[in-house]
Amino acid sequence: MPRTAAILIASPVPRGADRDRRRATAGVVLRSVLEHGPVARSTIARLTGLSPASVTDYCARFTRLGLVREAEPPRRSKGVGRPHVPLDLDDSRFVVGGMHVAVPHTTVALLDLRGRVLRQRELKHERTAPRWVLPRAAEALAAMLAEVRDARPLGVGFAAGGWVDRDCGVIVEHELLGWRDVPVREVLGAHTGLPVHVDGHARALVNGERLFGRARGGGSVLHLFVGNVVDAAFATHDEVHHGPRSQAGSIAHLPVPGGSEPCACGRTGCLQAELSERTLCRRARAAGITDGADPRHVLAAAN
Ligand SMILES: [Zn+2]
Repeated sequence: MPRTAAILIASPVPRGADRDRRRATAGVVLRSVLEHGPVARSTIARLTGLSPASVTDYCARFTRLGLVREAEPPRRSKGVGRPHVPLDLDDSRFVVGGMHVAVPHTTVALLDLRGRVLRQRELKHERTAPRWVLPRAAEALAAMLAEVRDARPLGVGFAAGGWVDRDCGVIVEHELLGWRDVPVREVLGAHTGLPVHVDGHARALVNGERLFGRARGGGSVLHLFVGNVVDAAFATHDEVHHGPRSQAGSIAHLPVPGGSEPCACGRTGCLQAELSERTLCRRARAAGITDGADPRHVLAAAN
């Protein structure tokens, strides 16, 4: 999921009232280069429905910014005149940071514009308080950035489970970590000096799949996550849904018929309480199948 931020952060931000629309169009043009590159400008125009002049304009700006470069032209055919020089993503100049806070650890990574992981580190949570976790994640990212001095960082994508308000950049509630109203964007922005994009991990994963994975090229995706937290995210017609205060996909406390696990919310038989890795491992221990807390051992035993 750290991949999510790459293209979004990379889109240039024009001023004025049509900022959002132009930003969205810029994203569409960049995505078509990401998905189809090396690609001719005329093909981008056909794929995006934009006018050739508009595509040329966007591509000239991306080239100036160092996001896009001219690729090797195809072998000269019999026709006369200059061959069309295709464009490709320039993945050499920029990097983005990615952070994912899970319950036992935080993963910090550095990625290029194609979403390839260049560096990655897992930081075990000796404590789970945000004032312990967030500065360490920022330190780890700074150390990675020091190793790739010639690439410029564009920003940081941050993902966590629980209820994450993307617009405010706040973890509203993460029960298992005991986080409540944590202003992650503000804290990490202060530590890293970079723009920080915050989102729920299930939505971040759907975004990653749309940009770099199997769901590439648009369409509809439904993603169900079962780990220590249980949640979901979905996209229809290539649009990821957030809902009011980013609550779309909150399924943790749906009741499971016949469920018997007590939940932190006070009820019994909530989906998250029934399905989480902790419950799975505890039941496996009680049944004498495993003796640890690693769900992979339960899976291996089941296999
Ligand atoms: Zn519950």
